Amino acid sequence: MSDPVAIGIDIGGTKLVAATVAADGRLIERHRRETPAHDTALLLQTLRASIRQLAAGRTDLPVGIGIAGLVSPDGVIRYGPNIGVRDVAIAEELADTTSAPIAVTNDASAAALGEQRAGAAQGHRDVVMFTLGTGVGGGIVVGDRLLLGANGFAAEIGHLIVAEGGRRCPCGARGCIEAYASGTAIGRVAAERAAAHDGPTVLRDVPMPTGRDVSQAALAGDELAQQVLVEAGTWLGVAAASLVNLLDPEVLLVGGGAALATSRWIVPAATEALQQRMLGNAWRVAPAFELAALGDDAGMVGAAMLALDRAGAAAPHGSRS
Ligand SMILES: [Zn+2]
Repeated sequence: MSDPVAIGIDIGGTKLVAATVAADGRLIERHRRETPAHDTALLLQTLRASIRQLAAGRTDLPVGIGIAGLVSPDGVIRYGPNIGVRDVAIAEELADTTSAPIAVTNDASAAALGEQRAGAAQGHRDVVMFTLGTGVGGGIVVGDRLLLGANGFAAEIGHLIVAEGGRRCPCGARGCIEAYASGTAIGRVAAERAAAHDGPTVLRDVPMPTGRDVSQAALAGDELAQQVLVEAGTWLGVAAASLVNLLDPEVLLVGGGAALATSRWIVPAATEALQQRMLGNAWRVAPAFELAALGDDAGMVGAAMLALDRAGAAAPHGSRS
């Protein structure tokens, strides 16, 4: 029998990427389509076409799907706001494409598994990943298995509360880490700091700065922008301290394009804040923050790995050697 292979699909807000992925994370064949948003029938049709094209006649390949939203472990997308879907039994709908398991999970969780199996955290069995983007996403791998929770809603790291009564989060609560370290939050904080700041900063001339504006200003040498990123990094470290106390991971990953570009400000601040707050910090070294390595492929690779786990066909991996 040939080596285990699965199909991994990442359904993003605008694009749908899919590939056949080997058990070691190697991409065999890949393609990309536009995501048909707000049209469940067309989305299912697109997924079927993707799977059949990649399967090339085989009907026994496990299929893994990552999607932004709340997904229950039985493969039902409860709510995918970016793609405009609600209560779609996606695994059941696609059961006619393969005789193997179809695994569906949140895209950020899928990305964490992808990085743990084939990216920046390869060789580690316990991993926490933060993805800093428009919001803050994340994923948790415990003992080489993706943490899904009873309802599939685990690892909503963005809504870990770091400041009771703090800044308002898009979820409706106050003080979530997303309200301090997302691109949106970084832009808002920058606008406030720029308005209250006497010294020079290019951010004062930007009406509604985004995280990207702040990143670009920081990279161009704007000290206020750099300070705002250090502040966001500190909050990330505060969140990480609770997660490290809870889960004792070997490594903490940071992903998201803007975070990678500005890691020189975010990561040292996060590391310092973590080291100060972590339990037992006098006699214990904090796990390092590492940068994610797979970029946009992480979710697709991780979804395939989850499908292989589900099929019980994954190759040996995650050794501590
Ligand atoms: Zn929140």
